[in-house]
Amino acid sequence: MAKQPDQGTANPKPGLLLVLSGPAGAGKSTVLRSVVEHDPVTRFSVSCTTRPRREGEVDGSDYHFLSDEEFSGKVKAGEFLEHAGVHKWRYGTLRNSVTSLIESGFDVIMDIDIQGATQIRACSDPLISSRLVDVFLMPSDTLELERRLRGRGSENDETFRLRMDNAIKEMEHWQHYTYRILSSTREQDYASFRAILDAERLRVARLS
Ligand code: 5GP
Repeated sequence: MAKQPDQGTANPKPGLLLVLSGPAGAGKSTVLRSVVEHDPVTRFSVSCTTRPRREGEVDGSDYHFLSDEEFSGKVKAGEFLEHAGVHKWRYGTLRNSVTSLIESGFDVIMDIDIQGATQIRACSDPLISSRLVDVFLMPSDTLELERRLRGRGSENDETFRLRMDNAIKEMEHWQHYTYRILSSTREQDYASFRAILDAERLRVARLS
């Protein structure tokens, strides 16, 4: 029997860059966590952010939590592959961490907003453009979106309205993506994302 790759052993070829976007409450982080947990060749791209750390989040693992000055320094030094303001905070992906993982053969998964995805699509680096797979995950309709956002709880009506309006605007962008998943159960969303990942790994253009 052929030798199985060790846990965490990457592909001999550069990996994929999977961009996952979608409104808050669509279930992106659940899908992403399941994929990274079950697939030793995938890695989560840890973003930088200026937003405060939430309870349970670990610096360096969920995000690199930076001050506004630190973030600006990295923008100035050209360290970001993409960066954007989302709600009140700034978010960005470090170029070097993503490219070194892809070059080492790992499939990198990014959870980024529509502005970040637009910047990545416009990126002229062939390592990025030839490996990019962009996916939009969204609830089936606005009623379902409302149900999911309300499920997150603890918000006053004004904040809730703002989040709903933002999410509805974001959902208008799904047609810019190569793949669109209409969210169903966690298991089905995971299976849909896995199907995309498996198919993209088999593309002949990527095998040669
Ligand atoms: P949260 O603060 O809830 O973790 O994330 C808020 C939003 O920021 C989500 O839509 C997420 O996709 C987006 N986001 C997280 N990291 C990045 C990043 O590095 N770049 C961009 N453009 N958006 C990000």
